[in-house]
Amino acid sequence: MTEIGGKYQVGDEQEIGENYSMTNLIIFDKDQTLVDSLCGERFIQSPTDQAILPGAAEAVQSFYERGFRIAIASNQGGVEARKKTLESAIEEMRFCLFLFPVIETGLIAPNYSGESAWEITQTTAKEISGDFGSFRKPGPGMLNYLMKLYQSTPSKTWFIGDRPEDEQAAESAGTQFIAADIVRARYLPGFSELQVNVEQLEFLEPQLKGVYRWE
Ligand SMILES: [Mg+2]
Repeated sequence: MTEIGGKYQVGDEQEIGENYSMTNLIIFDKDQTLVDSLCGERFIQSPTDQAILPGAAEAVQSFYERGFRIAIASNQGGVEARKKTLESAIEEMRFCLFLFPVIETGLIAPNYSGESAWEITQTTAKEISGDFGSFRKPGPGMLNYLMKLYQSTPSKTWFIGDRPEDEQAAESAGTQFIAADIVRARYLPGFSELQVNVEQLEFLEPQLKGVYRWE
């Protein structure tokens, strides 16, 4: 048993309760959410052909400083479409992790079948499978796997993406969802003109908690 602040003990689930001990997790989609093609093509052309989208670096840093664990989940169907090799897709995720050093883990789902995915860090890459649901978004597999990896729960997890299949994956996994352009816009001029619900606003602006709870 390890004392935390003299009050709670690690491993005492009953006393701490699930909500207290579970990790707050944010999962980002990659393309058009964190990065876009540097060369201006619609699809990323090579592992280093990635430019950080305006507001993305500030958003990631802010969430990191607020104590969230952060990961990435990217479909990478271009592998099965033979637009890129698996090795190139792994290097591409690794370069994205290099661009966002506080993000430890990226998953890619290169198969249309969704039966497996790859878990990538700066130094490792391993194929993963198992009973998580389809790994290819809109399937929930990558989100379910990351929640298990980081010991989080759907109610403690946000998924951030730009596509309908991202929102569907979040719905299927039971996590919360917010559109990537809203998250990035928080760090750019004009945020106050965007439409967000109360939960999304509290996620982006925790210091406002309570202000909008008028009922
Ligand atoms: Mg995307």
